[in-house]
Amino acid sequence: MMFEPEFECLPADAMRALQDRRLRDVVAYVADRVPFYRDRLESAGVQPADIRGVADIARLPITRKTDLRDHYPFGLLAVPRAELRRVHASSGTTGKPTVVAYTANDLDLFARVTARSLAMAGAEPGMMLHNAYGYGLFTGGLGLHGGAERLGMNVVPVSGGMTERQVTLIEDLRPEVIACTPSYAMTLASALAARGVSPEAISLRYALHGAEPWTDASRGYIDAGLGVRCTNIYGLSEIIGPGVSCECVEARDGSHIMEDHFYPEILDPDSGEPLPDGADGVLVLTTLTKEALPLLRYWTGDITSLTREPCACGRTLVRMRMIRGRTDDMLIVRGVNVYPSQVESLLAQVPGLSPHFRLVVTRDRHLDDLEVQCEVSLAWAATTGFSGVDAVEHAGHEPSTALRRAAMAHLHDTLGVSVAVTLLPVGAGPRSEGGKLSRVVDRRGAG
Ligand SMILES: [Zn+2]
Repeated sequence: MMFEPEFECLPADAMRALQDRRLRDVVAYVADRVPFYRDRLESAGVQPADIRGVADIARLPITRKTDLRDHYPFGLLAVPRAELRRVHASSGTTGKPTVVAYTANDLDLFARVTARSLAMAGAEPGMMLHNAYGYGLFTGGLGLHGGAERLGMNVVPVSGGMTERQVTLIEDLRPEVIACTPSYAMTLASALAARGVSPEAISLRYALHGAEPWTDASRGYIDAGLGVRCTNIYGLSEIIGPGVSCECVEARDGSHIMEDHFYPEILDPDSGEPLPDGADGVLVLTTLTKEALPLLRYWTGDITSLTREPCACGRTLVRMRMIRGRTDDMLIVRGVNVYPSQVESLLAQVPGLSPHFRLVVTRDRHLDDLEVQCEVSLAWAATTGFSGVDAVEHAGHEPSTALRRAAMAHLHDTLGVSVAVTLLPVGAGPRSEGGKLSRVVDRRGAG
């Protein structure tokens, strides 16, 4: 089903006319209300009246995360504090978090785009949502919660953590839909397997995953492990939270962007020049309808491409490809770019390994060393008798030597850099507790 077919299936020319009108409005709005944008437009020599529509968008200034940081916490707001109804924040890698704020209308928009997303993912009114996204300052929990209620679902606000209890709730309450990070979905799938519960025995049918870059490899694990048809939901708190785009369960081939509210561009990461549909570049989003924190051309740092090919679901909303990596997640090891999501896809192609892994980067004198620590799969451990992490203990354990070599060769062939592989016993790999899982331990600065 579709939550708002009147917008989700708009013909291209009607969508363009709507975006043109809304862009003119938001430019006039920020020029009037946000001194930061007034100054930026002035120094770019742009009058609001110069912007007739999205064809003129490249004349507008880019907004970056550092701009939010420089105006922490409320310097970019377009409304008085008293008009705010909620604040969320995302953790920064350095120092202060990025604070975002919502008016009542912004929260209404948030609920509508997440309701659309849930419906895209297969959810219907009357179904139950097991919402294992973290509640709190993170936008995931409350964001999906509002959308599910708006769609007419029954929400179990379980949040992250206490995995054993979550498995019990899934078994007993029988939800049809689950929402959580992809890494936590894998944690839950492993917990179900460890308890001997088969995916067919539980009620889940659909799953929405986001907040971390993930891959088709994890999709296979999650579909099989939870007995679902899972879809990608994408968002970032600066724009609104989850619900900026979502895959439809019919095609699962790119996420439909809610482009009547969030206008997407793809720019060259180096030159900042616009790139055509199909080309990989940085996703840049302009909020067309937000009140508290409208952003012009926000540089997400996420690498993707757009397609306007017709979709099997009938929606006309433009689609973005799965995020390959966030530019700030990318590791440079001996001059080679390595994305954790790429390592994840490669590990999934090696039979015997689980999706639970971490990357450890160290520097010995001048050279970087990359180690992948990956947990073995339950089935592989059972057939080979592998139980330990200590290489000495497993010296002469032929299956683990063979598995380690196969993994190292496969990673080296594709990444083009040597990678050491350490096998971890079942249960010893990193598990998400519901929030975002950091897969990278970078010890290069540690001396
Ligand atoms: Zn579709």
